[in-house]
Amino acid sequence: MAASPKGVTVLGATGTIGVNTLDVMARHPQLYRAVALTANGNVERLVEQCRAHRPAYAVVADPQHEGALAAGLKAAGLDTEALSGPEALAHVAALPETDYVMAAIVGGAGLLPSLAAARAGKRVLLANKEALVMSGRIFMDQIRQSGAELLPIDSEHNAIFQCMPGDFDRGLGRVGVERILLTASGGPFRAYAASDLEAVTPEQACAHPNWVMGRKISVDSASMMNKGLELIEACWLFDTKPDKVEVVLHPQSVIHSMVSYVDGSVLAQLGNPDMRTPIAHALAWPERIASGVDPLDIVQVARLDFERPDMDRFPCLRLAYESFEAGGTATAILNAANEVAVESFLEARIRFTDIPRVISHCLETMELGTADTLEEVLAADEAARAVARAVVTAGGLGRRVTA
Ligand code: NAD
Ligand code: MG
Repeated sequence: MAASPKGVTVLGATGTIGVNTLDVMARHPQLYRAVALTANGNVERLVEQCRAHRPAYAVVADPQHEGALAAGLKAAGLDTEALSGPEALAHVAALPETDYVMAAIVGGAGLLPSLAAARAGKRVLLANKEALVMSGRIFMDQIRQSGAELLPIDSEHNAIFQCMPGDFDRGLGRVGVERILLTASGGPFRAYAASDLEAVTPEQACAHPNWVMGRKISVDSASMMNKGLELIEACWLFDTKPDKVEVVLHPQSVIHSMVSYVDGSVLAQLGNPDMRTPIAHALAWPERIASGVDPLDIVQVARLDFERPDMDRFPCLRLAYESFEAGGTATAILNAANEVAVESFLEARIRFTDIPRVISHCLETMELGTADTLEEVLAADEAARAVARAVVTAGGLGRRVTA
């Protein structure tokens, strides 16, 4: 007899990753069914998704939207229950009927619901890299304690996972892994001179050459903070140190990362840049299912280029290295300051090149804590946001972007 479909909660269902997840699930209704879908405030899209996927619960993070959500679900003739607020997000991540949780809320807002899924021993499909950057030790301890399964969705980490031996948790040295090669597209400004970065606009920053993504991660890709966050993410996921993770620019985004072994072998995972591949991989693991992604035409790709990153033009990458080395709450401060800086850049309140300045200011002026408890991490996050907002408001950093 066929097994019953796995129940899936999609946190951040209305975002890029959420939409791609529902696309893959819809191709395999015999394998996956939606238990709960969540959004920040996009009620219209959430109701539309509920109409297609018939979950038991729909959650909006902002309680102001609960009434509109309930009315929308009723008007659509659905018996999906409307919930709201941070507790509801954590609740639907831990439901007994949920087997898998796609953690795809953007930013620090995803930490508590992602942790709730980890605590409840679910299969956690982790897209929300900020959760690991803020509190990697706590998150990984929680996964181990509850016996949850952690599968990376970030394309690079999913690629690394695919190229690792199954028993990599014994320690990379013991299983013959020499280092990880973390690939980066370099984003839309890879070839820009430092002086040209001063005047770039949010629209230019969000126009990624290879990937379609939410606005925050698009700006992170343009500043290379995304690679910095991913370096930290890789260190936690694969229990290693930054000196074992080499960032390599690879503008075609066809190789999604590599693992180098002591015998000289380098294993790579390749594919078209489409997040449905890592999503399908993590949903089905250790099996394989169709994802809707076209097969890679390697002859059409024809060439693969590689370069070393330039940390002078892209200081965010250096700041990420430094904050991981500093340890404790430094990476939570880095993440929070970056979120405020990116938001301010998207609102044209600061220049693109002010992003690393805001972050440096926070890292240089704030005291570091140990990050042993969630309370300390959340306090550091809140304090760093306040310091970063104050810097932006004081306007010492730059002018409005006028272009
Ligand atoms: P997105 O902006 O497209 O979607 C974000 C989702 O989170 C939406 O559903 C939104 O409603 C929800 N959300 C936003 N703020 C919230 C809040 N305060 N409380 C609750 N929910 C909130 O972002 P995305 O591109 O889908 O990225 C999601 C996560 O996945 C990010 O952490 C990103 O770094 C990671 N990721 C994305 C990609 C990609 O290709 N898009 C690749 C790798 C990793
Ligand atoms: Mg990535």
